[in-house]
Amino acid sequence: MPETRYDYGIAGAGVSGLCLADALTRQFPRCRVLLIDPVADPDYNISFWTDGEIPPLGDTLKTWHQLAVQCGSERRVCPLRRYRLHSLWRADLDRVLTERLRQTGRATFLDEALTHCIDHGDGVEITTTHGSVRVGWLFDSRPKPLPADPAGLSMAGLTCELRATRPVFDPAVATLFDFVLETPHFDFLYVLPDTPTTALVNYAAVTPPGGEVPEDACARILKRYLAERWGIATGYTVARSYYGGIPLSARRVTRQSGGRVLDIGVRGGMLKPSTSYAFARILTDTAQIVGALERTGRPFYQDARPYYYRATDARMLRVYRRYPALAQRLMFHMFSEADGDVSLAFLDEKNTLKQNLSLFQRVPRPLLQEFLKALILA
Ligand SMILES: Cc1cc2nc3c(=O)[nH]c(=O)nc-3n(C[C@H](O)[C@H](O)[C@H](O)COP(=O)(O)OP(=O)(O)OC[C@H]3O[C@@H](n4cnc5c(N)ncnc54)[C@H](O)[C@@H]3O)c2cc1C
Repeated sequence: MPETRYDYGIAGAGVSGLCLADALTRQFPRCRVLLIDPVADPDYNISFWTDGEIPPLGDTLKTWHQLAVQCGSERRVCPLRRYRLHSLWRADLDRVLTERLRQTGRATFLDEALTHCIDHGDGVEITTTHGSVRVGWLFDSRPKPLPADPAGLSMAGLTCELRATRPVFDPAVATLFDFVLETPHFDFLYVLPDTPTTALVNYAAVTPPGGEVPEDACARILKRYLAERWGIATGYTVARSYYGGIPLSARRVTRQSGGRVLDIGVRGGMLKPSTSYAFARILTDTAQIVGALERTGRPFYQDARPYYYRATDARMLRVYRRYPALAQRLMFHMFSEADGDVSLAFLDEKNTLKQNLSLFQRVPRPLLQEFLKALILA
């Protein structure tokens, strides 16, 4: 066990832990950070949209300035002005951030499991499988075991990095949602093209917990989709793939935030259940924590997100479950060919109420009425 006293301890060198350690060492170059994590994480693709800052990630980050949404035969291509759509592989993110942290000489990695911690008021004593060490503040991203949420959903899906034998994709446009209308769930695909012959294709199924679509069924749906939508029945290879999932729950996460310990990442409530996206929120949270430390010497800040977004999340999960086809059509109509920013800002919880109302005015009236009825009944 290292002897040094650390300014910051981070339990879990996963996505949020590495992003925070990176931001801390860039903002406070003299600080000492201890990252504790017993295992390497699986490699999967993370896509996200943001109008905010992203840590320097070099060419591991792919970026799009236009997005498309598709529902059946209707397709809309929406330009992005403030927002950008991005994608990166977790292993690349881990590699870039770990290398940069090692180069600072300020970060220590401990391949052990944190077992418990004691908050002494002026620091935290953390115990791992091999001993104890003291840190000034502890940021905890370890997955929190939670009882299953009967009102929640589960997102499971298959991501494939494709290489086609002929040019089929337009690398300028990322398809964010291509809604699958044939299944009884809120299912969608996304296609993130890198070149005319290479793209990341993902099929995601949002089902009640326990009803996850298995990998071979996802693969069959993807194969059919590639043949029917992109005209490539066999002329491609899969360079890498990942099948995995995540539980979606709108139950309020009580973020331990007090004393000298703060939960971060999914544990800290950064996963938005109605979108299943967490990465952009993790980046925002990281910036807020570092900003608060700079201003006040403490990592706590006031969460300014309006309450009604949280209420909307819980309702939307119920609509996905009971009226998936309606939710798919509504989501499609919220995107306009004039501008994709307002729709992304809604999903990002950054719009004002007025902007959200203008968004719903885009939806055809009968569909909106049907949706409002479903919202009440769900
Ligand atoms: C398959 C999948 C796809 C996803 N795709 C997207 C996406 O496209 N876009 C998006 O925005 N979000 C996505 N997410 C959601 C989210 O971005 C990721 O889950 C992200 O990894 C969350 O970061 P985290 O730091 O909270 O958790 P993690 O990255 O999982 O980090 C937690 C860390 O804690 C460590 N740990 C566990 N036990 C201990 C212990 N006792 N002591 C110390 N360390 C411990 C683990 O090894 C792990 O490294 C996806 C999630 C999954 C599972």
